[in-house]
Amino acid sequence: MSGTGRFGRFGGRYAPETLMGPLLELEAAYELFKAEPSFQAELSALLKDFVGRPTPLTKAAKLGGSLGLELYLKREDLAHTGAHKINNSVGQCLLAKRMGKTRVIAETGAGQHGVATATAAAKLGLTCVVYMGAVDMERQALNVFRMRLLGAEVRSVDSGSRTLKDAVNEAMRDWAGSVKTTHYVLGSALGPHPFPSMVRDFHACIGWEARAQVRAQAGRLPDLALACVGGGSNAIGLFSGFLSDPAVELVGVEAGGTGLEPGRHAARFAAGPGGGAPGILHGTFTMLLQDAHGQVRETHSVSAGLDYPAVGPQHADLAESGRARYESVSDVEALDAFDRLAREEGILPALESAHAVAWLCREAAAYKGKVVVLNLSGRGDKDVDSVRRAREASGG
Ligand SMILES: *Cc1c(COP(=O)(O)O)cnc(C)c1O
Repeated sequence: MSGTGRFGRFGGRYAPETLMGPLLELEAAYELFKAEPSFQAELSALLKDFVGRPTPLTKAAKLGGSLGLELYLKREDLAHTGAHKINNSVGQCLLAKRMGKTRVIAETGAGQHGVATATAAAKLGLTCVVYMGAVDMERQALNVFRMRLLGAEVRSVDSGSRTLKDAVNEAMRDWAGSVKTTHYVLGSALGPHPFPSMVRDFHACIGWEARAQVRAQAGRLPDLALACVGGGSNAIGLFSGFLSDPAVELVGVEAGGTGLEPGRHAARFAAGPGGGAPGILHGTFTMLLQDAHGQVRETHSVSAGLDYPAVGPQHADLAESGRARYESVSDVEALDAFDRLAREEGILPALESAHAVAWLCREAAAYKGKVVVLNLSGRGDKDVDSVRRAREASGG
């Protein structure tokens, strides 16, 4: 047993009685299968032949050159379905199958995790139900259709703010009553133990591949490893490859939205009254955007994948210990970086990933001549409409 799932004072398992059974069963199954060679072999084969791993590490010579540093992009945008999320969905669906489950459920905000899970479920022959806030279903109609094409049932959630947080609540409610047949595929390195560790492990391939690739291409380890942080899964996947290399600086970039006042961003680590404080959401003790009464605050970001009030507990610990640093960039900075990567490198990044690019563009002077690995968590095709609307709104 891996114990309590603590990262320093963060993490844990703050779940209602009805979910303790399912969580303990999951923890035991994960401990069993992660050590089993036939599980690892089947997972490796799926990652290679279905997901398309290893993803390339691309030297961004023009952008790096103009910033005065050596920049390498880890190309999760080239993974099947266009983002890193498929690594976790395939891992958890395979685990579900080994556990004898026939049905998976998932929550989704923008639809990316829903599409990844519907994809993995189709491949592995599992029934799939995706919970999605009614507001999000309207905003992301194309992804709803995509999930249905993949054979998933999408259920509209009409409680609360009718967005991601409410979809998580609904998925947990379903799971409490359906655990005999069902596994809950949680979408980021969040939630009660064992999810934060398990989701990290399924994404650690990002970091281990990047580590080997940068050593082969640059001849050494990077000075900086950089990723955007929503729930924190792509970032902790990248960081996993470098956590034991103290010389590699780790930076996570959050959504600064339209300003660091309360309600205008999703920068949980921001200092000051608009920033986060330790608290519990969705089963884990972590940094959380909340008001003086502990009520969860509204968040905003131009990028749906970063728009969540809490963060994975391991990031809260990495920040507290000083091993990693968390910064934010604004919507406008992310949109500018989107344009820049498109024109200078021929890559449309996801708006989430564009946050990491934007931070590097802003802070480049401090990294002259350094080797930087930046996790390009996803492709930007899904965001071209948001970019167009933002341009029109700003008169561009
Ligand atoms: C969902 C998503 C994110 C944010 O989630 P993390 O768990 O923080 O990685 C980042 N980038 C892309 C492309 C996403 O789809």
